[in-house]
Amino acid sequence: MADKGYLPKEKIKEFVEALGKDAAVYAPCLEGDTITFRQYTPDKEISLDRPANTPPKGAIYPQCETLLSFEFKKDAATPQKMDVELKANTDFPKAVVFGGRPCDAKGFTVIDRVFVNTDTADPYYKKRRENTTIVTKCCNGPYAGCFCVGVGGGPASREGSDVVMTEVDGGYYLEAVTEKGKAVMSLPIIQDGSSYEAKAKQANEKATGAVRNPFPADARISPELFDSGDFWGRVVEKCVSCGACTFLCPTCYCFNITDEQAITTGERIRSWDSCMFQHFTLETSGHNPRPAKYKRFRNRVGHKFSYYPEKYDGAIACTGCGRCIRYCPVSVDISEIVGYLKDPKADPKQWAADKKDAKN
Ligand code: SF4
Ligand code: SF4
Repeated sequence: MADKGYLPKEKIKEFVEALGKDAAVYAPCLEGDTITFRQYTPDKEISLDRPANTPPKGAIYPQCETLLSFEFKKDAATPQKMDVELKANTDFPKAVVFGGRPCDAKGFTVIDRVFVNTDTADPYYKKRRENTTIVTKCCNGPYAGCFCVGVGGGPASREGSDVVMTEVDGGYYLEAVTEKGKAVMSLPIIQDGSSYEAKAKQANEKATGAVRNPFPADARISPELFDSGDFWGRVVEKCVSCGACTFLCPTCYCFNITDEQAITTGERIRSWDSCMFQHFTLETSGHNPRPAKYKRFRNRVGHKFSYYPEKYDGAIACTGCGRCIRYCPVSVDISEIVGYLKDPKADPKQWAADKKDAKN
């Protein structure tokens, strides 16, 4: 099977339709000014012009999914007895995530460590992940807020992808990264790509060189830096706790589980949750270990840049996609905050004072 190929731009729709012959294809679709991942149907307009506003995370880890349904059944012969019948389904169809960016594909690898590479793998995520092929478009350069190279990735990174596509001469140079990717390359629509390899390499190097790196040495931050309450209070004072940063993040995976019941039948539903919400850590007793906004924000940054790397061999739980910077309604910038904490001359209290002066 060939592992390199070429696809003219005008054949993108045809390619997506070929991918969709035996799979559901999730692609970045233009809706007004927004690009968001949707299950592709021919009436949708695919856009590869810029990274989508949302990551493709929901294709494998849906924002809301039924884990099981239940029904309470009374035993006619013994009215005191009640049985419960449970039904769960992990028989998911094959899927393709098409047109995400390298930071999006890498996002799945962050979730994999928690949901798959463990003794207690999540059967729903695991099955969908196994059934999904990821065809990624490399970026031509950075977009506002991107810092993927600072967290070990890049606009042409292969991590998490089965195929990567690089824009060259009126089309895309395609490269298979995995066996699943090689199966994609065997589709008849893929042309010989050998003459584009050098140009694609050049384009990838140029794009990588153009991305800013706010943490030149290492993006991890040490737990001692979490003690400065003043600093965290200042950086997050304008945050309105909307949760957009977590919902748009390709690596955030917190969830809540609720049972919704009507008389004798019901469903157990898992939905994304956000550590930026006040009720996220509220315990049944009424105690909340993270009642203050700065504690919740500090936990979000700490999880991505300190606790997760400590648990998973230094891997950072942020892919530098920049979405939380681009779409935060009050412009909280996680790269600026972590970059400051990484600076050996950093004085969190002074930073807080400088910010105050700049505003006055
Ligand atoms: S997107 Fe901005 S305002 Fe909303 S919770 Fe995140 S940091 Fe706060
Ligand atoms: S923390 Fe922000 S920049 Fe990092 S992966 Fe999540 S949304 Fe992207």
